Amino acid sequence: MKGFRYLEGVATLELSPEACIGCGRCVEVCPHQVFVLEGKLSRIVDLDVCMECGACAKNCPTAAIRVDAGVGCATGLINEWLRERKIRQVGKGCCS
Ligand code: SF4
Ligand code: SF4
Repeated sequence: MKGFRYLEGVATLELSPEACIGCGRCVEVCPHQVFVLEGKLSRIVDLDVCMECGACAKNCPTAAIRVDAGVGCATGLINEWLRERKIRQVGKGCCS
């Protein structure tokens, strides 16, 4: 998945282990293999290859996944620009 890597540490993807029931839907639908099933829980193996398409969150039956689909690239670029200028960065998930 190295070829799919975007900016580091900016993806809005979050997984709540408490809510996960280990159904494996996120593993099946993710086009970038961000998740693996370990025992009865899903785990994020590589946040930085997430392209924030939102498929995992839409298909999770327990709402264990949260991702701001479609804003990550823009947020990442803005944060990179702000970081370079030492200005406070925007929120992880939205431009608030
Ligand atoms: S789709 Fe949701 S409940 Fe199912 S394994 Fe993934 S995170 Fe867990
Ligand atoms: S948002 Fe898309 S790329 Fe990111 S983890 Fe979910 S399914 Fe995979």
